[in-house]
Amino acid sequence: MKKFYITTSIPYANAASHVGHILDPLIADVLSRYHRIKGDEVRFLVGTDEHGAKIVRKAEEVGKTPQQLVDENSANFREMHKLLNIKWDDFIRTSDQKRHWPGAQKMWKELKEAGDIYWKKYKGLYCVGHEAFITEKDLVNGKCQDHQKKPEVVNEENWFFRLSKYSKQIEDAIVSDKMKVMPESRKNEILSFIRGGLEDISISRPRKDISWGVPVPDDPTQLMYVWLEALTSYLSSIGYGQEDDQSKKLLSKWWPADAQIVGKDNLRFHAAIFPGMLLSAGLELPKEIFIHGFVNVDGQKISKTVGNVIAPGVVVDKYGVDPVRYFFLREFPSQDDGDFSYKKLEERHNGDLANGLGNLVQRVAILIDDKMGGELIYENEKRKTKSVKLETYHQAIEECKLHDALGEIWKLVAEANQYIDERKPWVEAKENPEGFLETMTGLIYMIHQISWLLQPFMPGTSERIFKMMGDSGSKEIQDNHKFIINKGEVLFPRLNK
Ligand SMILES: [Zn+2]
Repeated sequence: MKKFYITTSIPYANAASHVGHILDPLIADVLSRYHRIKGDEVRFLVGTDEHGAKIVRKAEEVGKTPQQLVDENSANFREMHKLLNIKWDDFIRTSDQKRHWPGAQKMWKELKEAGDIYWKKYKGLYCVGHEAFITEKDLVNGKCQDHQKKPEVVNEENWFFRLSKYSKQIEDAIVSDKMKVMPESRKNEILSFIRGGLEDISISRPRKDISWGVPVPDDPTQLMYVWLEALTSYLSSIGYGQEDDQSKKLLSKWWPADAQIVGKDNLRFHAAIFPGMLLSAGLELPKEIFIHGFVNVDGQKISKTVGNVIAPGVVVDKYGVDPVRYFFLREFPSQDDGDFSYKKLEERHNGDLANGLGNLVQRVAILIDDKMGGELIYENEKRKTKSVKLETYHQAIEECKLHDALGEIWKLVAEANQYIDERKPWVEAKENPEGFLETMTGLIYMIHQISWLLQPFMPGTSERIFKMMGDSGSKEIQDNHKFIINKGEVLFPRLNK
């Protein structure tokens, strides 16, 4: 059995989830379901990033303790996963002192032991929105471009990590695809960043400024920089930093990660800083990093000021889980930004789902019900339609072009609907029983394939179709399998404007 360890970036728990958070765990969910179906042993990790100044300030603002705030928001993210049928194996919280802190502190000790941590006086521009130091180049009119806020001038002494030392090794790993960064455009972006020279980074903050974080080992005056410890969660969740045998086994079984799914704002942290830490600590690099784009709403960046923050629950309540999954996976090119709007979602729903897939399944179920007494015994030699070619579908998923994989499935949906229009089985049923059986056998085969391929994307819909058609849901249709139709409700009722 092949193992497949997949992680998502862990969202910052200073606020509740919104539709911009859906893509990351949804992409990872599709890939983990796909690998499970293939027979791989899968571990799918999610979590929340819960330390740092932003959390402390937000908690003060709303009159809560940092712990109360992160408890609430972390629970909110769990709820989002449940709503979207995202089936992870593990949820790590960076405020978890038992599970996460030992791993984060072990990482620190390893970097120190490698001679890669040193003390330095530092002056820099700190953007709280970023929770990171930024440079003059990131400023427009003295404000951070992304957060529209003036950065704080920080003048202090910190611990630094010798990231510069690993520039060449990280570059080589990316160039050779030993650590594969996808898509190609992001690979080039990070390579040009690394070739510009990686600088050493500040990895601690004085405890007197913020008291909410992982303590630096052997230095009571400092806390670990939130990014450094948060990145370690991919390891702490599988036992890194724990001394018992079971944890050690877990770590050696699952590390390195086979795929890390992150948004484009996480590119540098995951494809430059984290690899540097791993190399310093003598750990293997992840095999694949996939970078996706942002979710805009009505053509604009999601922001409170614009007023376009939408809770995932609102959308799922209105349209149902699988139409929402479908919309995000199909409408958003996996590599680039995409746009959410109710109008586009409803167009996809009525077009691709109601008129396309839903109509196909409905037509075939009704024909078998009306003209065949509700049963069809499948014989492969009666099928005259061509076998479905799956290479493009699999290739698209391996390259994480999930929208293209769905595109392949919908080509089949269109072909099947067209086949019905051409063959006119309702006429054949009266005039050409032999031809009618051929047509229905071909259609059952196509619906079976569609439903099989759809499993990682829309697991609930796939299950419903199998049930409606009396399909066993195994990979290949067994010869002489009896399909007993169980029509039930319409799959995707049309939405009226
Ligand atoms: Zn910023």
